[in-house]
Amino acid sequence: MALLTGVAIVMLGSEKTSAFVSVINATEAIVLKIIDFIMEFAPIGVFALLAALVVDFSGDPAMFSALGMYAIIVVGCLLFLAYIFYPVLLRIITKKNIGDYLRAVFPIQLLAFSTSSSSATLPFTMEQAQNKLGISEETASFVLPLGATVNMDGTSCYQAIVVLFIAQIFGIELTTAQYLSVLFLTVLASIGTAGVPGASVVMTVMVMASVGIPVEGLALILGIDRPLDMLRTVVNVTGDTFVASVVEGKQKPSVL
Ligand code: ASP
Repeated sequence: MALLTGVAIVMLGSEKTSAFVSVINATEAIVLKIIDFIMEFAPIGVFALLAALVVDFSGDPAMFSALGMYAIIVVGCLLFLAYIFYPVLLRIITKKNIGDYLRAVFPIQLLAFSTSSSSATLPFTMEQAQNKLGISEETASFVLPLGATVNMDGTSCYQAIVVLFIAQIFGIELTTAQYLSVLFLTVLASIGTAGVPGASVVMTVMVMASVGIPVEGLALILGIDRPLDMLRTVVNVTGDTFVASVVEGKQKPSVL
């Protein structure tokens, strides 16, 4: 529906559709403001949810070590994606030098890490991709904005780990069919996740609900979510530059 509506708006031209576009823009601004209100109260909410869960688990120290293990696994998987998987795949597909690629994307990764937002990083990603990665404006202006919206591998990897971790904490055994739905739904959810801080938590709720895992469990991981969010944003933007480099490499030989 969204795609069809967008195509129809473009075809009709701004004169006929400007009122509708204004309503949509105003709705977006209102929703973002509501989210601002919610975020103001989020620390209190997270504290309350976490306190309730700690009481439920009777302050079991094993839960905290499990949480530490969870963080280590998320960090390990994200680092693997950003610094081994993408560079090696890029080398295989485009024959680009891994060191040059990593040096060029490092400033983008730093900005992604500090803002926790692929969308906020996008202008810099585009500039850096054109100046340092040798990606043409044509490719960068199509692939990177699209990537910042739909290509979130770090997010999808993180969501899958969260779902499995919480299922384990609650002692829920997943069937093979459920594992497959987690796989499928986390990819879909990551596509739908906005490139803003903490966005994937909302989508993870949907994945958990659809495989029957208690969503209150999310409170467990909310306390340590911010640093993991910073890291998955790094992977998300690295994935975007990787795809842009591959698309560029397919069009003409590498300049690196
Ligand atoms: N912060 C992430 C990003 O902007 C999205 C998320 O996983 O929450 O890419």
